[in-house]
Amino acid sequence: MDVSHILDELNEPQREAVTASDGNCLVLAGAGSGKTRVLIHRMAWLIEVEQVPVWNILAVTFTNKAAREMRSRIDELMTSPSGAMWVGTFHGLAHRLLRSHWKEAGLSQGFQIMDSDDQFRLIKRILKSLELDDSRWPPRQVQWFINARKDEGLRPQHIDDCDDFFQKQMIRIYQEYEDACNRGGVVDFAELLLRSHELWLNNPQLLEHYRKRFSHILVDEFQDTNSIQYAWIRLLVGNRNQLFVVGDDDQSIYGWRGARVENILNFQSDYPGSSLIKLEQNYRSSGNILKAANAIIEHNPTRLGKNLWTEDDAGEPIHLYSAFNEVDEARFVIGRIQDHLEQGMQRSGIAILYRTSAQSRLFEEALIQSSIPYRVYGGMRFFERAEVKDALAYVRLIKNQHDDVAFERAVNQPPRGIGPRTLDAIRLHAREFACSMWQASVELKQGGAMQARAANAIQHFIDLIEENRHTDEDIPFHESISRIIEIAGLREHFKKSRDGKGQDRIENLDEVVNAARQFINPEDELLSVLDAFLAHASLEAGENQGQEHEECVQLMTLHSAKGLEFPIVFIGGLEEGLFPHRMSADDPERLEEERRLCYVGMTRAMQQLTLSHAESRRLHGSESYPLPSRYLREIPHEYLLEIRSTPRISRPYTAASQTNTAGEFQLGQQVTHPKFGEGVILSSEGEGSTARVQVNFAETGVKWLVVNYANLS
Ligand code: ATP
Ligand code: MG
Repeated sequence: MDVSHILDELNEPQREAVTASDGNCLVLAGAGSGKTRVLIHRMAWLIEVEQVPVWNILAVTFTNKAAREMRSRIDELMTSPSGAMWVGTFHGLAHRLLRSHWKEAGLSQGFQIMDSDDQFRLIKRILKSLELDDSRWPPRQVQWFINARKDEGLRPQHIDDCDDFFQKQMIRIYQEYEDACNRGGVVDFAELLLRSHELWLNNPQLLEHYRKRFSHILVDEFQDTNSIQYAWIRLLVGNRNQLFVVGDDDQSIYGWRGARVENILNFQSDYPGSSLIKLEQNYRSSGNILKAANAIIEHNPTRLGKNLWTEDDAGEPIHLYSAFNEVDEARFVIGRIQDHLEQGMQRSGIAILYRTSAQSRLFEEALIQSSIPYRVYGGMRFFERAEVKDALAYVRLIKNQHDDVAFERAVNQPPRGIGPRTLDAIRLHAREFACSMWQASVELKQGGAMQARAANAIQHFIDLIEENRHTDEDIPFHESISRIIEIAGLREHFKKSRDGKGQDRIENLDEVVNAARQFINPEDELLSVLDAFLAHASLEAGENQGQEHEECVQLMTLHSAKGLEFPIVFIGGLEEGLFPHRMSADDPERLEEERRLCYVGMTRAMQQLTLSHAESRRLHGSESYPLPSRYLREIPHEYLLEIRSTPRISRPYTAASQTNTAGEFQLGQQVTHPKFGEGVILSSEGEGSTARVQVNFAETGVKWLVVNYANLS
């Protein structure tokens, strides 16, 4: 049989991995060495050569974006459709299992997924009902405690209280939290995994069924699996199935969320007789980028150590821009992007990466000003926005009145005169009688225990939900969503809002209806379109701003850039305190993880990498003057080209910056261009025929021009 399409574009060790005979296998290799490619070709090999049926294969990746990409690449490679293959993230796959076996898992049929913001609110409420002071028991810390225990596979009854008051109290809160989730029929992200692990543990027949089904299990980004994910995989593999994992210890960046790089280090002892394959050739980045990234990661003392090389040319040096503040940084980056676009680069080939999601806003604003379509991955995603969640809370509540998280959100949004005292009474009653808040409101009202005004308001709310419970059967799904938003009175409410964001919020509500209209139920056989939509809202969290198929510049945090690649990459905010983040400053292990994150970010770039830092930055409302990041010092000079523009407003020109001119032009000088009109020179680079200047034109904004052709006077 002809297997050339599977093997031709692979080097020798890659081929060895793809065609490995039976048994478990670990591919350990640096960034861009073709791990993901190997994983995909391995699947094609199994199916087409080893004749493994597609439904016997389970592949796990780290993000929804990566899962989609994997699916489309495998479809390109194979002649038969891959539909029956399970490809997804740990959370997505666990969710699928729980939907199929909700009963055995002890869940209600319509259980809902709670994101971390919902979880935070629920915890706050529980602390209140237990009369625990927020300042002594910070809800964030409690949230972290609960999630970390779940990631370790521990329920409250499994945790040793060490006869310690603090620990005892935490366990008690955790227990209360569990009870509340069970009552409301909601699960958090960590619960998805823990619950599906327990599902298998408690139902040996079911486990056997899945073990028989998934004879081949493949995992990408294995270095970032946490304990429960590892245990989940191990259970499924058993002693018969085959596990094929790929990973890179230098790219472990989720230790702060419980990922255990040990999982990769211990693989060979946990799976005796497994084979280990190393890949060392990088196919992604040009020489300068790869060498600079290698130089940075070498500063980490604890690593397995790998030697990555490339056949590629040195390529362009890494550009380094020192902005005078964060606005200047965004302006510079977007100016550069415009140049790339003018030179024919596709928008989707350009990415802006940053350490914290709050940094996206200025880039977004500059992109909007320049009318460049963009998409933000991660960060404040569409489905996480407050008004969107308000609308979905109504949808959820109409479906299931006992969803306390949704109840809390909807009951007084828009405000209906249900005060904190009434709500406290409802919470107390719900807790005392272990019932939902909905039930508690009904009972309190009937018992005459409420003041007339509050009772009226509650009745009004109850009626509103009740009346709409059975109206959605005949009309298209998105119309029913639109109707729910209408009757909830959210649009009216935001219309009156004075915070200047009312219009935005209304547009976002419209966007919910759009999203519902465009929504295609991927789990048709398993879920109603409504449940599928709500699950999508929680799991995928709006990876589709911009138009789904519109070509967009990509914005994301460094964490969400994992596994991806782009011809042109910008990394902003390389400043001490921001990157490395100040939260990691005192902990050597965390600092190593930050450096790995820098390595991950830099190795996303294929042709051109631009790093920037700002000399002053407004952070959390106050001005700071951060030092440039240590990573900038760790890059050897020969790989860097510094680009400096003159501060325009805040500082006088220095002699040093004036020497940095291109040809006859001085920084700060007024110039005229035949087409763009009048402008001021902001910065310059290069010499002779490649000399370029950056000009801020009064009418058309900032542009880079090649001096020889620009015809400036
Ligand atoms: P990361 O560590 O960032 O996840 P990776 O090791 O998974 O990277 P891939 O994304 O699989 O690397 O590959 C990096 C790039 O190199 C891709 O564009 C891929 O198509 C290309 N590539 C990999 N192997 C080869 C090869 N043998 N010949 C040509 N191109 C290759
Ligand atoms: Mg990869």
